[in-house]
Amino acid sequence: MIYASAPGKVNLFFEVGPLRADGFHSVLSLYQSLAIRQRVGVATAQQWSVSTTGNLPQAQLDLVPSDEENLIVVAAKALADFVGIQNPQPMHFETVKEVPVAAGLAGGSADAAAALIALNEAWCLGLSFDQLIEVGSRVGSDVPFALLGGTAIGVDTGIDLTPLTPIPTLHVVLLVSPYGLSTGKVFGKFDDLYPQGDLNLSPEQLLAEIADGRLTIGKNSLLPAAVDLKPELRELINSTDLPLMLSGSGPTLAFVTADAGQAAKAAEQLRSLGHFLIETTSDARGAELG
Ligand code: ATP
Repeated sequence: MIYASAPGKVNLFFEVGPLRADGFHSVLSLYQSLAIRQRVGVATAQQWSVSTTGNLPQAQLDLVPSDEENLIVVAAKALADFVGIQNPQPMHFETVKEVPVAAGLAGGSADAAAALIALNEAWCLGLSFDQLIEVGSRVGSDVPFALLGGTAIGVDTGIDLTPLTPIPTLHVVLLVSPYGLSTGKVFGKFDDLYPQGDLNLSPEQLLAEIADGRLTIGKNSLLPAAVDLKPELRELINSTDLPLMLSGSGPTLAFVTADAGQAAKAAEQLRSLGHFLIETTSDARGAELG
C-alpha cells in the first residue's frame, strides 16, 4: 500500500460574499493548517471502496461514505480525467481519521488531498504539486489548501491561494460538537440572512492588517447562519467567557492562542463543562507521502 497524509484546517478569518451565478460564493479566508491529519493508503482492487477508522466517535465515522460518493473516489476520478485515463483501475483506500467529520475542519478535503498525493505515486503519473492543486480545485474548495498547508489567504471559492510566511506556533483547542452541520445548509441560511453577502475586506487589506498586527482573528461570516441552524452553538458560546471562533461552516468552535498555558487553562475549563475536545497546534506541513 502507498500512504499519504494531509492536514485539517481552521479559518482564522472568514468573510463570505453573495451567492454567485455559478452557485458558489467568493470568500476571503485566512487558512491555517493543523497538526491533526488524515492518512490515506491506496491499493488496487476489484471495485472502488473506502474503509474509515480513527479515534473518533463511531457516529462520526458512520457519516463517511464507503463507496464512490466518498470525496476520495471523486478525487481519484478527477485525477484520472485530468491525465486522460478513460477507465481508471479501481482502488481500495484505507483512511485513518484524526479530523472530525462534517465539522468545518475540511476532513473530507484532507482525505482527497492525501489520496491525490498517494495516487500520483501509485499510478506513476509524475504530476507536479501545482498540477495536483489544479485537480484538487475541481474536487472541492478546501482541497487545494489541504495540499498546500501552512498559512495562506484564499480567495475565489478558497481555491486561489497566496501562501504567507509561516507564523509562530498557535495552540488550538477544538470544541467538537456531537452533531455535524451540512456546509450546503449553512451557506443556504447565510444567503437568506445576507443576500448582499458579507465581504468587507479586500485581500490587500487583509494582508496589510496581518502585516502590521492589526488583525483580530476569529471573524466568520457564517457564524449567524450556523447559530440559526443550531441554537445550541449560541448556548455553548455564551456558557464561557472564552473568545471562541467558528471554523469554516462549523459546528466546531475553536479557541486559538499563541500561549500554551492559556490553551491548557481553556481546555480544562471546557472539559469541566463536559465538552469533547481536541487539543492541537498549528502545523505548516501540507499533504505529503508517508
Ligand atoms: P468542508 O469544510 O470541506 O465543507 P467538513 O470538514 O465540514 O467539510 P467533511 O468531514 O469533509 O466536512 O464531511 C462532510 C460530508 O461529506 C460528510 O457528512 C460526508 O457525508 C461527506 N463525505 C464524503 N467523503 C468524505 C470523506 N472522505 N470524509 C468525510 N466526509 C466525507
